[in-house]
Amino acid sequence: MRLFVLASGNAHKKEEYERLIQNAKVEMFESFETEENGINYTENARIKLLALKKLIDEKNIKYPEDTVLFADDSGLEISSHPEILGLYTSRFCENEQLSQKEKNQRIISLMKNESNRKARFVCHIAFMFINDGIIHDVQGEIGGEIADSISGTDGFGYDPIFIPNGENKTLSALGGEYKQTHSHRYHAVCKMIEVINGIN
Ligand code: IMP
Repeated sequence: MRLFVLASGNAHKKEEYERLIQNAKVEMFESFETEENGINYTENARIKLLALKKLIDEKNIKYPEDTVLFADDSGLEISSHPEILGLYTSRFCENEQLSQKEKNQRIISLMKNESNRKARFVCHIAFMFINDGIIHDVQGEIGGEIADSISGTDGFGYDPIFIPNGENKTLSALGGEYKQTHSHRYHAVCKMIEVINGIN
């Protein structure tokens, strides 16, 4: 079983990757943190990936040669408000100590009289085999719109306010199995596995 080490401290992301990557073991360092100061998702994901590689080297951890290190930078892009979220999703209202529910409520209020509700989730994965250091990039996305209220209990982050195209419920309300086969992360993982299978 191949080992994938995720450059994140986000347990929700790890859980999703455990379900998305078949026949693999996914690990992460719970305390992992990096500054996300890249100019796009690719740069941010690569910053996280290289920070993970540095951490592993510093700790002198010896993983199997076929281990994959990977980093995910994700964002929710709202067409009518490109200045908020997107690349800066993790920093939304960061000085206000808001809970995720309060952040979701803030977006709902902001969109109250907005007719253009178009949005998309983007997931960029940068990954490398631990033994060659060559970085590969893949990206997945899911289109949809911002709901007019919060609903659903599954998932995390902005899932309770995002309705995928062709659906009438939020990602949270549609549930984990739906997200596992339709999400931005699912599409990015499919591309990552395709690249890995092409190399090995
Ligand atoms: P980052 O990729 O860790 O920088 O994530 C940025 C922020 O986007 C997270 O803190 C979440 O709030 C949000 N986010 C990332 N992925 C998802 C997702 O799959 N669903 C909902 N929100 C997400």
